[in-house]
Amino acid sequence: MYCIIFVLFSRRHKFTLSLEHTAILIQAIAQKKQNKKLVQRLSRLPEKKIDTLFHDLHQEVFEEMDCLTCANCCKTTSPIFRNIDIERLSKRLKTSPSQFIASNLKMDHEGDYVLQHSPCLFLGEDNKCSVYEDRPLACREYPHTNRKKMHQILNLTRKNTEICPAVSQIFQKLQQVNFVVSLFCWLGFDFG
Ligand code: SF4
Ligand code: SF4
Repeated sequence: MYCIIFVLFSRRHKFTLSLEHTAILIQAIAQKKQNKKLVQRLSRLPEKKIDTLFHDLHQEVFEEMDCLTCANCCKTTSPIFRNIDIERLSKRLKTSPSQFIASNLKMDHEGDYVLQHSPCLFLGEDNKCSVYEDRPLACREYPHTNRKKMHQILNLTRKNTEICPAVSQIFQKLQQVNFVVSLFCWLGFDFG
């Protein structure tokens, strides 16, 4: 069923997601419960240990991942546009920030500017970003799996397993170390 949803979505927007990436995302949806439990266990680890786990796996997964074969983040979600992002993009597009906002953005429930529609208006059918050098900071940092203080965004990152095949793969690899973490928790080992 999920496969059909993904295919319909892709056709509607004239963008496609490869079968390989679709399969990875379906696996993440199927593992939702396990990933929730994994986040609970990870949150008991020292902050630096959590960072090390994610940063190592980020490097490993992105060595193999070619984002130009995916672009699912640009197809299905919106980055946050900070004022400085809006100013930079308006300048590039030779328009005013207020006109750029009126034409393309809306405010979300947290008071941040986000796209009115997905896929992103700057995404080409070749999966390339037409404003790559001037893209928002949020695009540069997505999927945030190599940032510091990962413990602050564990749940957000878990939700990204259903959007980003790379994050899904990172969680699949984390599940492999989950057994060791579980064992230590069961033995009452104090990670703090
Ligand atoms: S960051 Fe994730 S969702 Fe975005 S293009 Fe790369 S693999 Fe795909
Ligand atoms: S600005 Fe570029 S990188 Fe950011 S969502 Fe749009 S197409 Fe993707």
